[in-house]
Amino acid sequence: MANQVCINCGSKYEIDEIVYFCRKCGDILEIKYDYGELSKALKRSDWRNAPLSVWRYRDFMPINDPTKIVSLNEGGTGLHPCMRLAKHLGLRELYVKNEGENPTGSFKDRGMTVGVTKAVELGVKSVICASTGNTSASLAAYAAKAGLQCAVLIPTGKIAYGKLSQAMIYGAKVIQVRGNFDQALDIVLKLSEKHRTIYLLNSVNPFRIEGQKSLGYEICDQLNQQAPDRVIVPVGNAGNISAIWKGFKEFHELGFVKGLPKMTGIQAAGAAPIAQAIKTGSDTIVPVAAPETVATAIRIGAPVSWKKALNAIRESKGTAETVTDEEILSAQKLLARVEGLFVEPASASSIAGLIKLVENGLIDKDERIVCVTTGHGLKDPDTAVKMSEKPVEVDAEMAAIEYVLGLKRAMEVVAR
Ligand SMILES: *Cc1c(COP(=O)(O)O)cnc(C)c1O
Ligand SMILES: [Zn+2]
Repeated sequence: MANQVCINCGSKYEIDEIVYFCRKCGDILEIKYDYGELSKALKRSDWRNAPLSVWRYRDFMPINDPTKIVSLNEGGTGLHPCMRLAKHLGLRELYVKNEGENPTGSFKDRGMTVGVTKAVELGVKSVICASTGNTSASLAAYAAKAGLQCAVLIPTGKIAYGKLSQAMIYGAKVIQVRGNFDQALDIVLKLSEKHRTIYLLNSVNPFRIEGQKSLGYEICDQLNQQAPDRVIVPVGNAGNISAIWKGFKEFHELGFVKGLPKMTGIQAAGAAPIAQAIKTGSDTIVPVAAPETVATAIRIGAPVSWKKALNAIRESKGTAETVTDEEILSAQKLLARVEGLFVEPASASSIAGLIKLVENGLIDKDERIVCVTTGHGLKDPDTAVKMSEKPVEVDAEMAAIEYVLGLKRAMEVVAR
Protein backbone atom coordinates (compact mmCIF):
# COMPACT_ATOMS: atom_id res chain seq x y z
CA MET A 1 0.00 0.00 0.00
CA ALA A 2 3.01 2.32 0.52
CA ASN A 3 6.34 2.89 -1.24
CA GLN A 4 9.43 4.99 -0.75
CA VAL A 5 9.61 7.36 -3.72
CA CYS A 6 12.39 9.72 -4.86
CA ILE A 7 11.17 13.33 -4.72
CA ASN A 8 13.18 14.18 -7.84
CA CYS A 9 13.06 11.30 -10.37
CA GLY A 10 10.17 9.29 -8.92
CA SER A 11 12.13 6.04 -8.56
CA LYS A 12 10.30 3.63 -6.26
CA TYR A 13 11.73 1.53 -3.43
CA GLU A 14 10.06 -1.15 -1.32
CA ILE A 15 8.77 0.00 2.05
CA ASP A 16 11.13 -2.38 3.90
CA GLU A 17 14.24 -1.53 1.92
CA ILE A 18 16.99 0.26 3.86
CA VAL A 19 17.74 3.19 1.56
CA TYR A 20 18.24 6.84 2.53
CA PHE A 21 18.90 8.47 -0.85
CA CYS A 22 17.75 7.64 -4.37
CA ARG A 23 20.22 5.21 -5.97
CA LYS A 24 19.60 6.79 -9.38
CA CYS A 25 19.85 10.52 -8.71
CA GLY A 26 20.89 10.89 -5.06
CA ASP A 27 17.88 12.95 -3.96
CA ILE A 28 15.86 12.27 -0.79
CA LEU A 29 12.82 9.98 -0.53
CA GLU A 30 9.27 10.33 0.70
CA ILE A 31 6.62 7.76 1.55
CA LYS A 32 3.68 7.64 -0.84
CA TYR A 33 0.45 5.74 -0.38
CA ASP A 34 -2.32 4.46 -2.56
CA TYR A 35 -4.89 6.89 -1.17
CA GLY A 36 -7.83 4.92 -2.57
CA GLU A 37 -6.69 1.86 -0.59
CA LEU A 38 -5.96 3.99 2.48
CA SER A 39 -9.42 5.55 2.28
CA LYS A 40 -11.03 2.08 2.21
CA ALA A 41 -8.93 0.91 5.17
CA LEU A 42 -9.92 4.02 7.13
CA LYS A 43 -13.62 3.34 6.60
CA ARG A 44 -13.15 0.00 8.40
CA SER A 45 -11.14 1.57 11.23
CA ASP A 46 -12.42 3.29 14.38
CA TRP A 47 -9.44 5.65 14.48
CA ARG A 48 -11.68 8.62 15.28
CA ASN A 49 -12.46 7.12 18.67
CA ALA A 50 -8.82 6.77 19.72
CA PRO A 51 -7.30 9.49 21.93
CA LEU A 52 -5.32 12.28 20.28
CA SER A 53 -1.76 10.96 19.77
CA VAL A 54 0.59 9.89 16.99
CA TRP A 55 -0.76 6.33 17.10
CA ARG A 56 -4.38 7.43 16.77
CA TYR A 57 -3.24 7.69 13.14
CA ARG A 58 -1.57 4.28 12.93
CA ASP A 59 -3.60 3.44 9.80
CA PHE A 60 -1.86 6.40 8.12
CA MET A 61 1.63 5.12 9.07
CA PRO A 62 3.88 2.77 7.05
CA ILE A 63 4.11 0.19 9.84
CA ASN A 64 3.26 -3.48 9.22
CA ASP A 65 3.16 -4.92 12.72
CA PRO A 66 1.33 -2.93 15.44
CA THR A 67 2.71 -5.26 18.14
CA LYS A 68 6.18 -3.80 17.47
CA ILE A 69 5.21 -0.17 18.15
CA VAL A 70 7.75 1.60 20.40
CA SER A 71 5.83 4.34 22.19
CA LEU A 72 6.33 6.72 25.10
CA ASN A 73 2.92 8.32 24.49
CA GLU A 74 3.90 10.99 21.98
CA GLY A 75 1.71 13.57 20.29
CA GLY A 76 -1.62 14.77 21.65
CA THR A 77 0.01 18.08 22.57
CA GLY A 78 -2.03 21.13 23.46
CA LEU A 79 -3.35 23.57 20.88
CA HIS A 80 -3.45 26.57 23.19
CA PRO A 81 -5.76 29.48 22.33
CA CYS A 82 -3.60 32.56 22.96
CA MET A 83 -6.11 35.32 23.57
CA ARG A 84 -3.76 37.63 25.45
CA LEU A 85 -0.98 37.39 22.87
CA ALA A 86 -3.52 37.79 20.05
CA LYS A 87 -4.85 40.96 21.65
CA HIS A 88 -1.32 42.27 22.14
CA LEU A 89 -0.65 41.81 18.40
CA GLY A 90 -4.10 42.86 17.21
CA LEU A 91 -4.95 39.40 15.85
CA ARG A 92 -8.35 37.74 15.79
CA GLU A 93 -7.49 34.08 16.39
CA LEU A 94 -4.13 32.71 17.47
CA TYR A 95 -3.10 29.28 18.76
CA VAL A 96 0.18 27.78 19.89
CA LYS A 97 0.71 24.07 19.20
CA ASN A 98 3.12 23.35 22.00
CA GLU A 99 5.38 20.45 21.08
CA GLY A 100 7.39 20.79 24.29
CA GLU A 101 4.63 18.63 25.81
CA ASN A 102 6.02 15.51 24.12
CA PRO A 103 7.78 12.77 26.20
CA THR A 104 11.34 14.08 25.71
CA GLY A 105 10.22 17.68 25.26
CA SER A 106 10.23 18.21 21.49
CA PHE A 107 8.33 17.27 18.31
CA LYS A 108 11.20 14.94 17.44
CA ASP A 109 9.36 12.25 19.46
CA ARG A 110 6.62 12.08 16.80
CA GLY A 111 9.20 11.05 14.24
CA MET A 112 11.24 8.81 16.50
CA THR A 113 8.34 6.67 17.67
CA VAL A 114 7.71 5.75 14.00
CA GLY A 115 11.41 5.63 13.00
CA VAL A 116 12.43 3.39 15.90
CA THR A 117 9.37 1.19 15.39
CA LYS A 118 10.54 0.77 11.78
CA ALA A 119 14.05 -0.05 13.03
CA VAL A 120 12.56 -2.82 15.21
CA GLU A 121 10.49 -4.14 12.27
CA LEU A 122 13.61 -4.19 10.12
CA GLY A 123 15.44 -6.14 12.83
CA VAL A 124 18.40 -3.76 13.16
CA LYS A 125 20.30 -3.74 16.46
CA SER A 126 21.78 -0.25 16.49
CA VAL A 127 20.73 3.27 15.55
CA ILE A 128 22.62 6.52 15.00
CA CYS A 129 22.04 10.21 14.34
CA ALA A 130 23.79 13.56 14.22
CA SER A 131 22.04 16.23 16.21
CA THR A 132 22.02 19.74 17.57
CA GLY A 133 20.44 18.16 20.68
CA ASN A 134 16.75 17.28 20.51
CA THR A 135 17.09 14.53 17.92
CA SER A 136 19.72 12.80 20.05
CA ALA A 137 17.64 13.19 23.23
CA SER A 138 14.65 11.65 21.48
CA LEU A 139 16.50 8.86 19.69
CA ALA A 140 18.31 7.91 22.91
CA ALA A 141 14.98 7.56 24.74
CA TYR A 142 13.26 5.46 22.06
CA ALA A 143 16.35 3.29 21.57
CA ALA A 144 16.36 2.65 25.33
CA LYS A 145 12.68 1.73 25.24
CA ALA A 146 13.29 -0.64 22.31
CA GLY A 147 16.51 -2.13 23.71
CA LEU A 148 18.62 -0.93 20.76
CA GLN A 149 22.19 0.35 20.87
CA CYS A 150 22.35 4.06 20.20
CA ALA A 151 25.11 6.47 19.20
CA VAL A 152 24.66 10.22 18.76
CA LEU A 153 27.06 12.72 17.21
CA ILE A 154 26.86 16.22 18.64
CA PRO A 155 28.82 19.26 17.50
CA THR A 156 31.12 20.57 20.25
CA GLY A 157 30.50 23.92 21.83
CA LYS A 158 27.08 25.41 22.15
CA ILE A 159 24.82 22.42 22.86
CA ALA A 160 22.01 23.17 25.31
CA TYR A 161 22.62 21.36 28.59
CA GLY A 162 19.13 19.93 29.04
CA LYS A 163 19.43 18.05 25.75
CA LEU A 164 22.91 16.72 26.45
CA SER A 165 21.81 15.45 29.86
CA GLN A 166 18.93 13.53 28.24
CA ALA A 167 21.11 11.73 25.68
CA MET A 168 23.54 10.81 28.48
CA ILE A 169 21.03 9.53 31.02
CA TYR A 170 19.18 7.41 28.42
CA GLY A 171 22.47 5.58 27.89
CA ALA A 172 23.42 6.60 24.35
CA LYS A 173 27.05 6.64 23.26
CA VAL A 174 27.49 10.42 23.06
CA ILE A 175 30.24 11.54 20.68
CA GLN A 176 31.16 15.19 20.51
CA VAL A 177 32.53 16.11 17.10
CA ARG A 178 34.90 19.04 16.72
CA GLY A 179 32.89 20.72 13.99
CA ASN A 180 29.40 21.95 13.25
CA PHE A 181 26.14 20.06 12.72
CA ASP A 182 26.49 19.86 8.96
CA GLN A 183 29.87 18.13 9.30
CA ALA A 184 28.53 15.66 11.88
CA LEU A 185 25.60 14.85 9.60
CA ASP A 186 27.92 14.26 6.66
CA ILE A 187 29.83 11.67 8.73
CA VAL A 188 26.76 9.70 9.88
CA LEU A 189 25.38 9.66 6.33
CA LYS A 190 28.58 8.05 5.04
CA LEU A 191 28.92 5.79 8.09
CA SER A 192 25.44 4.30 7.71
CA GLU A 193 26.06 3.65 3.99
CA LYS A 194 29.36 1.91 4.81
CA HIS A 195 28.15 -0.07 7.84
CA ARG A 196 24.71 -1.31 6.82
CA THR A 197 23.90 -2.72 10.29
CA ILE A 198 23.67 0.80 11.75
CA TYR A 199 20.29 2.36 11.01
CA LEU A 200 20.29 6.10 10.36
CA LEU A 201 17.60 8.15 12.07
CA ASN A 202 18.30 11.67 10.88
CA SER A 203 15.44 13.47 9.18
CA VAL A 204 16.50 12.17 5.74
CA ASN A 205 14.83 9.03 7.10
CA PRO A 206 11.35 9.28 5.55
CA PHE A 207 9.75 7.26 8.38
CA ARG A 208 10.49 10.08 10.80
CA ILE A 209 8.71 12.49 8.49
CA GLU A 210 5.69 10.15 8.53
CA GLY A 211 5.49 10.38 12.33
CA GLN A 212 5.86 14.16 12.25
CA LYS A 213 3.04 14.61 9.73
CA SER A 214 0.67 13.73 12.61
CA LEU A 215 1.27 17.30 13.84
CA GLY A 216 -0.77 18.52 10.86
CA TYR A 217 -3.48 15.90 11.41
CA GLU A 218 -3.79 16.85 15.07
CA ILE A 219 -4.21 20.55 14.34
CA CYS A 220 -7.12 19.72 11.98
CA ASP A 221 -8.73 17.43 14.53
CA GLN A 222 -8.27 19.96 17.35
CA LEU A 223 -9.92 22.64 15.20
CA ASN A 224 -12.91 20.32 14.59
CA GLN A 225 -11.99 19.16 11.10
CA GLN A 226 -10.84 22.53 9.87
CA ALA A 227 -7.45 23.65 8.63
CA PRO A 228 -6.15 26.99 9.96
CA ASP A 229 -5.37 29.79 7.49
CA ARG A 230 -1.70 29.80 8.38
CA VAL A 231 0.81 27.62 10.22
CA ILE A 232 4.10 29.19 11.33
CA VAL A 233 7.02 26.81 11.91
CA PRO A 234 10.67 27.26 12.96
CA VAL A 235 12.88 25.81 10.21
CA GLY A 236 16.28 24.15 10.63
CA ASN A 237 16.84 21.02 8.58
CA ALA A 238 13.35 21.64 7.18
CA GLY A 239 11.98 18.16 7.84
CA ASN A 240 9.22 19.40 10.13
CA ILE A 241 7.66 22.03 7.87
CA SER A 242 7.68 19.44 5.06
CA ALA A 243 6.10 16.83 7.33
CA ILE A 244 3.35 19.14 8.63
CA TRP A 245 2.46 20.13 5.06
CA LYS A 246 2.31 16.45 4.07
CA GLY A 247 -0.10 15.89 6.97
CA PHE A 248 -2.42 18.68 5.85
CA LYS A 249 -2.31 17.61 2.24
CA GLU A 250 -3.14 14.01 3.10
CA PHE A 251 -6.11 15.03 5.25
CA HIS A 252 -7.24 17.22 2.38
CA GLU A 253 -6.78 14.45 -0.19
CA LEU A 254 -8.75 12.04 2.01
CA GLY A 255 -11.56 14.57 2.32
CA PHE A 256 -11.21 15.26 6.06
CA VAL A 257 -10.62 19.03 5.67
CA LYS A 258 -11.65 21.55 3.04
CA GLY A 259 -8.98 24.22 3.14
CA LEU A 260 -5.21 24.18 3.44
CA PRO A 261 -2.98 26.49 5.49
CA LYS A 262 -0.28 28.81 4.18
CA MET A 263 2.95 27.25 5.42
CA THR A 264 5.21 29.94 6.86
CA GLY A 265 8.81 29.05 7.70
CA ILE A 266 10.92 31.08 10.13
CA GLN A 267 14.71 30.92 10.23
CA ALA A 268 17.33 32.62 12.37
CA ALA A 269 19.04 35.45 10.48
CA GLY A 270 22.43 33.73 10.85
CA ALA A 271 21.19 30.42 9.39
CA ALA A 272 18.58 31.26 6.78
CA PRO A 273 19.26 29.59 3.42
CA ILE A 274 15.60 28.65 2.89
CA ALA A 275 14.21 32.07 3.79
CA GLN A 276 16.76 33.64 1.43
CA ALA A 277 15.69 31.36 -1.42
CA ILE A 278 12.04 32.27 -0.85
CA LYS A 279 12.81 35.99 -0.70
CA THR A 280 14.90 35.91 -3.88
CA GLY A 281 12.57 33.55 -5.72
CA SER A 282 15.35 31.03 -6.23
CA ASP A 283 14.74 27.33 -6.99
CA THR A 284 17.77 26.28 -5.01
CA ILE A 285 19.48 27.25 -1.75
CA VAL A 286 22.91 28.67 -1.04
CA PRO A 287 24.23 26.83 2.05
CA VAL A 288 25.53 28.99 4.93
CA ALA A 289 29.09 27.92 5.76
CA ALA A 290 29.21 29.06 9.39
CA PRO A 291 25.62 29.25 10.70
CA GLU A 292 25.26 31.27 13.92
CA THR A 293 22.31 31.82 16.27
CA VAL A 294 21.30 31.54 19.92
CA ALA A 295 18.56 29.17 18.70
CA THR A 296 20.85 26.12 18.53
CA ALA A 297 18.11 23.75 17.30
CA ILE A 298 17.90 25.69 14.03
CA ARG A 299 21.62 26.52 13.67
CA ILE A 300 21.85 24.64 10.38
CA GLY A 301 23.55 25.91 7.23
CA ALA A 302 22.75 23.14 4.74
CA PRO A 303 19.22 21.83 5.41
CA VAL A 304 18.74 18.29 4.10
CA SER A 305 15.05 18.73 3.29
CA TRP A 306 15.37 22.13 1.60
CA LYS A 307 13.67 21.00 -1.59
CA LYS A 308 10.63 19.63 0.25
CA ALA A 309 10.44 22.84 2.30
CA LEU A 310 10.60 25.21 -0.68
CA ASN A 311 7.86 23.13 -2.25
CA ALA A 312 5.70 23.20 0.92
CA ILE A 313 5.99 26.98 1.19
CA ARG A 314 5.37 27.70 -2.50
CA GLU A 315 2.64 25.12 -3.03
CA SER A 316 0.73 26.41 0.00
CA LYS A 317 1.20 30.09 -1.02
CA GLY A 318 3.00 30.66 2.26
CA THR A 319 6.15 32.61 2.93
CA ALA A 320 9.41 32.61 4.90
CA GLU A 321 10.99 35.19 7.17
CA THR A 322 14.18 35.67 9.14
CA VAL A 323 14.45 36.83 12.75
CA THR A 324 17.41 38.08 14.77
CA ASP A 325 18.58 36.53 18.04
CA GLU A 326 17.28 39.60 19.84
CA GLU A 327 13.82 39.16 18.31
CA ILE A 328 13.84 35.45 19.20
CA LEU A 329 14.74 36.04 22.86
CA SER A 330 12.23 38.83 23.28
CA ALA A 331 9.48 36.64 21.75
CA GLN A 332 10.46 33.80 24.10
CA LYS A 333 10.02 36.11 27.07
CA LEU A 334 6.74 37.55 25.79
CA LEU A 335 5.18 34.12 25.23
CA ALA A 336 6.20 32.99 28.71
CA ARG A 337 4.85 36.17 30.31
CA VAL A 338 1.53 36.57 28.56
CA GLU A 339 0.59 32.94 27.91
CA GLY A 340 2.48 30.89 30.52
CA LEU A 341 4.27 28.89 27.83
CA PHE A 342 8.02 28.38 28.29
CA VAL A 343 9.63 27.28 25.05
CA GLU A 344 13.23 27.02 23.92
CA PRO A 345 14.73 29.83 21.78
CA ALA A 346 14.39 27.96 18.43
CA SER A 347 10.70 27.43 19.19
CA ALA A 348 10.16 31.10 19.96
CA SER A 349 11.30 31.95 16.45
CA SER A 350 7.79 31.11 15.22
CA ILE A 351 6.41 33.79 17.56
CA ALA A 352 9.18 36.23 16.60
CA GLY A 353 8.37 35.59 12.94
CA LEU A 354 4.67 36.15 13.54
CA ILE A 355 5.39 39.48 15.23
CA LYS A 356 7.63 40.61 12.36
CA LEU A 357 5.17 39.57 9.64
CA VAL A 358 2.32 41.35 11.45
CA GLU A 359 4.41 44.51 11.89
CA ASN A 360 5.30 44.49 8.20
CA GLY A 361 1.66 44.04 7.21
CA LEU A 362 2.34 40.67 5.60
CA ILE A 363 -0.28 38.82 7.65
CA ASP A 364 -4.00 39.53 7.55
CA LYS A 365 -5.12 40.16 11.13
CA ASP A 366 -8.31 38.16 10.58
CA GLU A 367 -6.46 34.96 9.77
CA ARG A 368 -6.75 31.92 12.00
CA ILE A 369 -3.09 31.32 12.85
CA VAL A 370 -1.26 28.43 14.49
CA CYS A 371 2.34 28.92 15.67
CA VAL A 372 4.22 25.70 16.33
CA THR A 373 6.55 25.86 19.31
CA THR A 374 8.90 22.95 18.77
CA GLY A 375 10.65 22.31 22.10
CA HIS A 376 10.41 22.85 25.86
CA GLY A 377 12.04 25.83 27.54
CA LEU A 378 13.84 23.69 30.11
CA LYS A 379 15.97 22.25 27.29
CA ASP A 380 18.07 25.39 27.54
CA PRO A 381 17.75 26.90 31.03
CA ASP A 382 21.04 28.83 30.78
CA THR A 383 19.72 31.16 28.08
CA ALA A 384 16.51 31.81 30.04
CA VAL A 385 18.39 32.65 33.24
CA LYS A 386 20.85 34.88 31.39
CA MET A 387 18.15 37.09 29.90
CA SER A 388 15.84 37.36 32.89
CA GLU A 389 15.94 39.67 35.87
CA LYS A 390 18.18 38.21 38.58
CA PRO A 391 16.58 37.05 41.86
CA VAL A 392 16.82 39.59 44.68
CA GLU A 393 18.66 38.35 47.78
CA VAL A 394 17.52 39.68 51.18
CA ASP A 395 17.83 38.90 54.87
CA ALA A 396 15.30 36.41 56.28
CA GLU A 397 13.08 39.19 57.64
CA MET A 398 9.52 40.22 56.89
CA ALA A 399 10.47 43.89 56.53
CA ALA A 400 13.00 43.15 53.84
CA ILE A 401 10.44 41.17 51.81
CA GLU A 402 7.86 43.92 52.30
CA TYR A 403 10.35 46.42 50.95
CA VAL A 404 11.09 44.28 47.87
CA LEU A 405 7.35 43.84 47.24
CA GLY A 406 6.79 47.60 47.49
CA LEU A 407 4.74 47.28 50.68
CA LYS A 408 7.15 49.36 52.75
CA ARG A 409 9.39 52.32 52.08
CA ALA A 410 13.15 51.96 52.42
CA MET A 411 13.31 54.45 55.31
CA GLU A 412 11.22 52.26 57.56
CA VAL A 413 13.50 49.31 56.90
CA VAL A 414 16.57 51.35 57.67
CA ALA A 415 14.99 52.87 60.84
CA ARG A 416 14.12 49.48 62.28
C1 LIG B 1 14.73 20.02 15.33
C2 LIG B 1 14.17 21.28 15.84
C3 LIG B 1 13.81 22.33 14.98
C4 LIG B 1 14.02 22.28 13.51
O1 LIG B 1 13.22 21.32 12.84
P1 LIG B 1 13.61 20.86 11.38
O2 LIG B 1 12.75 19.72 11.08
O3 LIG B 1 15.07 20.50 11.43
O4 LIG B 1 13.39 22.05 10.48
C5 LIG B 1 13.24 23.45 15.53
N1 LIG B 1 13.07 23.57 16.86
C6 LIG B 1 13.41 22.60 17.71
C7 LIG B 1 13.20 22.80 19.17
C8 LIG B 1 13.97 21.41 17.23
O5 LIG B 1 14.32 20.46 18.10
ZN1 LIG C 1 15.90 9.85 -7.86
